[in-house]
Amino acid sequence: MERGKTFIISGPSGVGKSTILHKLFERRPNLYFSVSATTRGPREGEVDGKHYHFTSAEDFKRMIGEDAFLEHAEFVGNYYGTPKRYVYEAMERGEDVILDIELQGAIQVHEKMPEAIRVFILPPSLEELERRLVSRGTETAEKIQGRLTRAKVEFESAHTYDYIVINDDVEHAVSELDAIMTAEHCRAADRAVKF
Ligand code: ADP
Ligand code: 5GP
Repeated sequence: MERGKTFIISGPSGVGKSTILHKLFERRPNLYFSVSATTRGPREGEVDGKHYHFTSAEDFKRMIGEDAFLEHAEFVGNYYGTPKRYVYEAMERGEDVILDIELQGAIQVHEKMPEAIRVFILPPSLEELERRLVSRGTETAEKIQGRLTRAKVEFESAHTYDYIVINDDVEHAVSELDAIMTAEHCRAADRAVKF
């Protein structure tokens, strides 16, 4: 059985990562979404244990002390981290792991797992990103400004990733991500075919 691969999906808040990943899961079997721990409060419709493990700052610090995270980072006033154990277990089961994480976390994972594939999702423009953040209606105007400021910093690192997908049309973006994952499974190094 082929071991699963880990895919890091980054991109500015509001670019459409959750929307794209939701549709990707309908297309690809054998995917494991790594549920992060966060100190941010749940948005309407978010389910504890499915979208995030909603955690107190004390519990988050305890988990850091227990070395429970593959990576963790602060993002616009809250802490986010990837519980380590489940990522390795899923790969051993042959499942591909999806990490929806921001830039600092991606750098940490790249150091520990250089074989993880990094995909950066870009919006068609900064104006469209702002429009999406406002229309989602989940953050205050102040929080939206904080996320947009962070987005401008993140854009500058997009070129350090292995792939860039522009989320203009959702279906098109999902198809590109799907194709990237398929191509990564066709690498000669992984196709140990002997003649
Ligand atoms: P993220 O997970 O990156 O923060 P979301 O998936 O929550 O972003 O998307 C932010 C908002 O933008 C949502 O309201 C979503 O419906 C919308 N959206 C996502 N992709 C597109 C797209 N290609 N065109 C227009 N709106 C989009
Ligand atoms: P949101 O609050 O919009 O759900 O997420 C904010 C940012 O945190 C997004 O860029 C998302 O990718 C990132 N994020 C979510 N979970 C994690 C995590 O476990 N670690 C890191 N480093 N970033 C995360």
